[in-house]
This record gives sequence, structure tokens and C-alpha cells, in this order.
Amino acid sequence: MTRIGSAAVVVGAGIAGLTAARTLADRFDRVVVLDRDRLPDDPVPRRGVPQGEHGHVLLLAGQRALEELFPGLLDELTAAGAARFDMGMDLSIYRFGAVWSRIPTAQWLVTPSRALLETTVRQRVRKLPGVEVREDSAVSGLIGAAGRITGVRLADGDTIGADLVVDCTGRGGRSNRWLAELGFPAPRVAEVTVNLGYATRLYRRTPGDLPDAQAVLVLPDPPRETRTGGVLPIEGDQWMVTLGGWHDGFPRDLESFERHGRELPHPGLVRLLERAEPVSDVVVYQFPASRRRHFEELRERPVGYLALGDAICSFNPIYGQGMTCASMEAVALGELLDRHGRITDALSADYYRRAAAILATPWQFAAGADFAYPQTKGVRPRGIRLLNAYSRRIQRASIVDPQVREVFMSVQHLVLDPAVLRRPSMVLKVLRAARRAPG
Ligand SMILES: Cc1cc2nc3c(=O)[nH]c(=O)nc-3n(C[C@H](O)[C@H](O)[C@H](O)COP(=O)(O)OP(=O)(O)OC[C@H]3O[C@@H](n4cnc5c(N)ncnc54)[C@H](O)[C@@H]3O)c2cc1C
Repeated sequence: MTRIGSAAVVVGAGIAGLTAARTLADRFDRVVVLDRDRLPDDPVPRRGVPQGEHGHVLLLAGQRALEELFPGLLDELTAAGAARFDMGMDLSIYRFGAVWSRIPTAQWLVTPSRALLETTVRQRVRKLPGVEVREDSAVSGLIGAAGRITGVRLADGDTIGADLVVDCTGRGGRSNRWLAELGFPAPRVAEVTVNLGYATRLYRRTPGDLPDAQAVLVLPDPPRETRTGGVLPIEGDQWMVTLGGWHDGFPRDLESFERHGRELPHPGLVRLLERAEPVSDVVVYQFPASRRRHFEELRERPVGYLALGDAICSFNPIYGQGMTCASMEAVALGELLDRHGRITDALSADYYRRAAAILATPWQFAAGADFAYPQTKGVRPRGIRLLNAYSRRIQRASIVDPQVREVFMSVQHLVLDPAVLRRPSMVLKVLRAARRAPG
């Protein structure tokens, strides 16, 4: 690893900020992570990440990236009560009129709550030499001159100098304004409006609540259906039940939560909601649009400033990709810092190119699939009707063909290149199997 500089500042201590800090700790003498929130020691929700109260799944590629940054993390989460299960056998999926048959895949999901994941990672980061995590420290702007960012300004007027500032302020970050204040152009923003909402409630988990599975995922058949629902086992012997829907088809209170749950076509989920004891209120999160900032298109970039995580791209959460992409970007940042050895415009250009490559497939999944609803607004990717029609066949084929399922899951979990699904032999297999699928 290459020593790059004396000080780095990370703004935001969410998953992106913490993974970035891990990468920077090996390459800078001092790393200061700033968050405007009070950061709790226990795995409880906090104000700055309201999405943290809702179901969060870590894709296989995210598990790999986090293990690379924090070896042994998944075992630590399991020891703290997170469930671990084979997603082919124990995740019961309903889509296209059928509960999908179960097949062993040896692809494991680990399902801590987002709060447990974040606190466990934060405890690891706090222990890194040279790293300081400061709470109650809101950043109000960047400082810099002559094309270079040289630090941050805090809301209390203090400044902190840095060779590199990594912006991990998430979806609601203000960095476009901060960059504009210093005369830098803002990146183009692409939005895909989905008007999605999630409503979540916790239940006590007892053996037999879900006799045939450890988790449930119900997905709609667009454009006719808009509703979704999921059950995840989390630490503390609890179920996290998240119900939601596209284009305003989501519950907003207890009554609509219970109705939405009853009407979902998964008998196991309905039974669980009837029997399990609720241990929390219903909390609601509204997600108007996926949003991506195209830094890679900028001709002029501020040297010494990089964005990571939701600060670059915030996806429709149903595809479970945000934390994974943030962790993959943090790994890529480390590789590029070592390759470049200095903080230059060439580093920024390379980094945003790599981030764009990481985001390409998940953005296509999320934004593309959302255009199956005519109400979705935004710039339609070219050929999306054909892609969505094929994707529908792949999923229908996955119901009956274990090999297609495994390949599809691996692509969806970002560990296999989607090109594998376009190979002639695979296309043939998909088309044949899709004809055998029920419904
Ligand atoms: C309902 C919902 C469900 C989701 N489910 C999944 C899932 O299943 N799987 C998945 O991978 N992803 C999921 N996501 C996406 C995931 O939550 C995000 O991609 C991920 O949290 C991004 O992390 P981040 O660190 O970039 O941003 P955030 O987690 O939003 O963190 C940003 C941090 O920056 C701090 N901050 C902001 N502004 C300032 C400032 N000015 N000064 C100092 N600090 C500041 C905030 O306090 C916060 O701590 C979901 C999202 C939603 C909305």
C-alpha cells in the first residue's frame, strides 16, 4: 500500500463513510470522519439514516467487499445474532404467480439490521490507528482554491485541512452547492421517479413462525401489480417485516400496513403477520426517485474531492444495491490510490470511471426495471422494453430451472457479469424454461 498524504477527511459516517475510512486509514497518517449525528454505541436507529429502520439486504458482492475491508465481519455479525442462511433454500420468493421452488445454492445471506451492521463496522473503524470518528460535527462547506479542495468548513465555523476530502453525505447531501460556491460545475443528475414507499414493523421471532423458510420476498408483476413485501430475521430474535409499493401503492399507517400484508399472495407471510407478536410501531419511508450524479462526465473536477456511496448514486432500494456499491467503491478507491500514488485530477477521473463501471449494472437493474411501470418518469434506457421482456423470462425460467436461478442470482448479486445471460446457450435455456414456468 502506498502512503498518499498526511490527512484525509470523510464527511458522513454511514456505510460509505466507514468503508472509505477503512481504505484511507492504510494510506493517510490521519483520517477524520465527521458526522452531524450523535452516533449511538448500541444498534439502534439514528436520525441521519432514517432508511436504517427498514429491511436492508447485503448482496453477495457487498459481503465480499466488506469482508475484504473488515476480515471476519460476517462471523462477527452472526455472533451478534444476525441470521445466516442459504438464499436458494431459505429465502421464499413469490413472483409471477408462484412461490419459487427451493434449490440449494450455497450462496449465503447474512441479515443483521442496518443499525447492527453499521455499529459493528463503526466499532472496527474506531479501533484503526490514526482514525478519529467525530459525532455532532456537521459540515457546512468545502474549502479550497486554484482547482483544489483543501479541507472542510464545519457548521460551528471551524475548518479542518485535508489532502483529500471524501464526500459520503448520502442522498440528501449538499455538495452540489458546496462545489458551486467554489466555482466548480455540478455533475449532471439523472432521476427515475418511482414514488416508492416502505413501511416496516418488528415482530418477536419464535420457531415455526415461517415453517418452510427463514425469509420471504414478494415481488410484483408489473405493470399490473405494484406491491411488495419482505420478512427478514434480524438479531434479537426479531422479524423485520417491510411492506412497500411503487407509485404510491404502499402503506402509510397501521391499518393500511395490516391490510397490505393480508393482501399479499404469500401464505407464509400472511400467517406470520396473523400470529407473531408486534414489538414496534409501523415506520414509513418515502423514496420519490432513484438519483445518480454523473461525475464521470465532468471535464473539470475538483482535485482533492471525491464522492462515494449514495452521494454518487441512490437506487430504488428494492434491489438492495446501495451498501454493496458503496463498499465496492471503497475497495476500488484503495486500488486507485495505490496505482496513482498522488492526489491528482487523473486519480479523480479514474475513480469516477471505476465508480461508473461499478454502478452500470445495478443502475440498469434498478432504473431499467422500474420503467416496466408506465408511471415511471425519467430518461428511458435504450432497448429497455426488450431488456425487461427478457428479464421477465429469466425470472420465470428461474422458478423452474435451478441453473438459470443460480446464474440469475449471481448476476443480481453483482458477482457475475450480466453478459453471461446473453450467451446464446443461456438465452435458449431461458426461453425453453420460461415456457415451463407456472402462471
Ligand atoms: C428504505 C431503504 C431501504 C434500503 N435497503 C437497502 C438494502 O436492502 N440493501 C442495500 O445495500 N441498500 C439499501 N438501501 C440503500 C442504503 O441505505 C444506502 O445505499 C446506504 O445507506 C448508503 O450509505 P451512505 O453512507 O452513502 O449514505 P447514508 O447512509 O445516508 O449516510 C450519510 C451520512 O452522512 C451524514 N451527513 C449528511 N450530511 C452531513 C453533513 N453536512 N455533515 C456531516 N455529516 C453529514 C448523515 O448523518 C449520515 O450518517 C436502502 C435505502 C432505503 C431508503
